Amino acid sequence: MITGAQNDSENIKNIYNTSLSNGKSYAWLDHLSNRIGSRLSGSLGAELAVQYTKKQLDSIGLDKVWLQPVMVPKWVRGTPEFSYIEIAPGETIPVNICALGGSVATPLQGIKANLIEVQGIAELKALTQEDVAGKIVFFNRPMDETLINTFNSYGGCVDQRYAGAMEAGKLGAVGVIVRSMNLRIDEFPHTGSMTYGDLPVNQRIASAAISTKHADLLSSMLKLDSNLKLYFKQNCKQLKDVQSHNVIGEITGTEFPKEIIVVGGHLDSWDLGDGSHDDGAGCTQSMDVLRLLKESGIKPKRTIRVVLFMNEENGLRGGRKYAEEATKKGENHIFALESDSGGFTPRGFSFDCSDANFQQILNWKPLFEPYLIHYFEKGGSGADIGPLKGNNNVLAGLRPDSQRYFDYHHAANDTFDAVNKRELELGAATMTSLVYLIDKYGINQINTNQQLKD
Ligand SMILES: [Zn+2]
Repeated sequence: MITGAQNDSENIKNIYNTSLSNGKSYAWLDHLSNRIGSRLSGSLGAELAVQYTKKQLDSIGLDKVWLQPVMVPKWVRGTPEFSYIEIAPGETIPVNICALGGSVATPLQGIKANLIEVQGIAELKALTQEDVAGKIVFFNRPMDETLINTFNSYGGCVDQRYAGAMEAGKLGAVGVIVRSMNLRIDEFPHTGSMTYGDLPVNQRIASAAISTKHADLLSSMLKLDSNLKLYFKQNCKQLKDVQSHNVIGEITGTEFPKEIIVVGGHLDSWDLGDGSHDDGAGCTQSMDVLRLLKESGIKPKRTIRVVLFMNEENGLRGGRKYAEEATKKGENHIFALESDSGGFTPRGFSFDCSDANFQQILNWKPLFEPYLIHYFEKGGSGADIGPLKGNNNVLAGLRPDSQRYFDYHHAANDTFDAVNKRELELGAATMTSLVYLIDKYGINQINTNQQLKD
């Protein structure tokens, strides 16, 4: 006799076999990365990606595929940025630099000024107007190398990128340079979002990231000569919002179609690389979850929906729009899973849910052990699915190995060649297996209280 658990382990083995021998995530990512390329919100690439992924979802025989309109911000980088350290008049060293997303341009002729180096926002706030006015603030706090989860290292210093220009602008700085959020010492500048808050327009100063190698160089040179100058020039611009779309497809549940399970990633990316890890990987894995269920002969009882969210990077408009529409329609999202931590070897999941739901999920942990999936912890889920949080549902994030993620994150080297096919496919299979279990058993509290049958 086959017990429930035996049956589950066979079905999960079948899911992994199918993903590793007949997965589609890698081929889809190849097209998205190499044929379409970067997908910054409001760009041509983003629109081509919407059309392409919709067409692919149409081709795999889902019950429904549709586009959900959403207005998104449109920021453009303009001509390539340019920067150098000036040691003496006419004596310069080039610096690899990129504007931060949302930044204003420098004046047409660029900015050349003395620098003041700080290790973060707290250190800046301890300074006076007199210390800072007329200078470029150089935020140089490195990511903490000792943390095993590199997302924690990122979280420990990303505020200088996000809010550095706002705080420096208040003190009369003329520009901001931030050390790239990267644990590796290399030559790639890493972009990312930033804000001016409600700072008046005349206090908004240009902000940019420089490579970790140049941040180290600049810092050591400043120790020898605090009077050296940095020049940088950028002509990025914030344009009017434009219409874009979330891409959605579903397999309608056979028994409890009103209980919705979402799996997704974000379709937009930054513009420097092609966004293969962030987050082309998560999108194509999520698309393949629905296809792998079908290929494995599993007919979901609940509705399984893939959502490719637009505009996670610089606005989160897609995630908010999706949740807003779900509320309007009174939809019941029992579970949502996001993959937005790169296409690396999966280690497990983090869960944002009640203790009771977490205990239920922990019971399934042994089923994942043959695949070296062991990380089941409570914690965050994903930015795009965050707005779906309710009293009684489970949100989860796929947690791949994070050691190499920040080598590529938001930089020109986040390209297809940085993604390993098997690692990507293992991630898709891991996601599919969890979705399979949630679909089969439901979520404790909802299941016992209110069976939502059509
Ligand atoms: Zn991302």
